[in-house]
Amino acid sequence: MVSSQDQGEPSLLSVRGLTKLFGTFAACDGIDLDIAPGEIHALLGENGAGKSTLVKMLFGVLQPSSGQILWQGKPVSISSPGQARDLGIGMVFQHFSLFEALTVGENIALSLDPKISLSKISEEAASLSKAYGLPLDPKMHVADLSVGERQRIEIVRALLQNPKLIILDEPTSVLTPQEADRLFETLFKLKAEGRSVLYISHRLDEVQRICDRATVLRHGKVTGVCDPRQETPASLARMMVGSDVAAVHREDLGTPGEVLLDVKSMSFAPRTPFAVSLKNVSMSVRAGEVLAIAGVAGNGQGELFDVLSGEYPVADHDAIKIRGTSVGRTRINGRRLLGAGFVPEERHGHAAVSQMSLSDNLLLARAHSDRKAFLAGGLGKVIRHGAVKAATARICQVMDVRKSGEDPTAGSLSGGNLQKFIVGRELDRQPSVLVVNQPTWGVDAGAASRIRQALIDLAKSGSAVVVISQDLDEIFEVATSIAVISEGRLSDAYPAGTLSLERIGLLMGGIHDSTQHASHAGEAADAH
Ligand code: ADP
Ligand code: MG
Repeated sequence: MVSSQDQGEPSLLSVRGLTKLFGTFAACDGIDLDIAPGEIHALLGENGAGKSTLVKMLFGVLQPSSGQILWQGKPVSISSPGQARDLGIGMVFQHFSLFEALTVGENIALSLDPKISLSKISEEAASLSKAYGLPLDPKMHVADLSVGERQRIEIVRALLQNPKLIILDEPTSVLTPQEADRLFETLFKLKAEGRSVLYISHRLDEVQRICDRATVLRHGKVTGVCDPRQETPASLARMMVGSDVAAVHREDLGTPGEVLLDVKSMSFAPRTPFAVSLKNVSMSVRAGEVLAIAGVAGNGQGELFDVLSGEYPVADHDAIKIRGTSVGRTRINGRRLLGAGFVPEERHGHAAVSQMSLSDNLLLARAHSDRKAFLAGGLGKVIRHGAVKAATARICQVMDVRKSGEDPTAGSLSGGNLQKFIVGRELDRQPSVLVVNQPTWGVDAGAASRIRQALIDLAKSGSAVVVISQDLDEIFEVATSIAVISEGRLSDAYPAGTLSLERIGLLMGGIHDSTQHASHAGEAADAH
């Protein structure tokens, strides 16, 4: 155990006995925390541990129920984000707070003094983004940016206030390894300037790589303070979850059955000047298969999900077939009626309405495709509340969704628990085709392994599953076959055991030399 006091250095920020009650539930329960000047301090913990709640109190978004916050040794009460900024605290949220219809520059301007001109802000933002290796174009519209780029806006926006402490809530869950490396360089630069970083993560390897100290939370309480470099991943994980994380179990899935999802030479023009066009995409996914689609963020993953789900129809009706039926111009509900299910990337606003209860969110997604189960009566349909509640309870039980109360709002769940609910909501229908986009981003190891296991089990039961993911560990864990998307082109699919990491890396970089395909069987020797 180390603390900044032992080193004789006064803390920049100290927290004593900080508690936050939601009703009678303590999301944070008597937390002590010390952040020294110039250190990168990790806040580690599984989903629902209370990490986001803690930092929201530090940034004035939530008010503590009891306890004390000291800034440079003096007790402070932080009643608003504005006040936190004035003290010198900057924050990059887990869920971004950006307006899609506005440009990068306009979004940044919104958080600053209205007297500063937009051109001045854009100029400063551009120079900061250059200095810190966070490339951004102030004139771009946020709607056209990838998640990684959106995060850069939040970071630059926080840096413009010249903070002494910058808090990042699960920043790398949305980044590629390369983008994450770039972020780490930015963090090291901030540290070299004497600023402190509070870094929230559940990724043990990166915490060990970049953090000087870690405070570990579990069920709202501190379970340890340590130097992560002196720990092993196993010892850190034990502090986090109390027991070792269950490994995902992928026995032989058996011989694949008939083709359930068939895409042939599908193209899709970009909807905006900055979106990616899909070019001549083909894939066949059979019963019992998990096709994992790897790729660097912003290479058409979102667009691919949109056209597979029917959120955007394609011109050629026959280019997409679900269980033999052409659906290219069929919308999402029509595809769901054929037995397909979809889980989009963005939990809040897309997959779920934060302000609505879990049961209402269930009904929203399934009222059309599962009419008989949830609605009764003739013309003026009546909701069968009992059935909706029962299905909600069933999903929460099967997926181990931890929540406060029987039917809380979606927004009150921690990210991983909401994600388990959203995936469970689709699995509960036993879809014969399931397409998921980034199923475990921002989700702790326990929830991620629960979700991955569920995807494998679904394939095992005879469904065709497509997993679009930037997480290569996830790809290797769940895939029976792997394809790579790059600049809107999809590679051939390879049996999972035959593709090396290096080869995937080349495909990600857009090497599509078809003459290399002939030799891929020979790669089994150096497979992952
Ligand atoms: P973490 O960020 O570590 O995943 P959170 O701080 O988001 O965890 O959540 C901690 C716990 O508090 C969770 O059980 C969550 O459901 C609960 N919680 C968070 N916000 C609210 C809220 N506004 N109302 C009720 N419960 C909440
Ligand atoms: Mg959180």
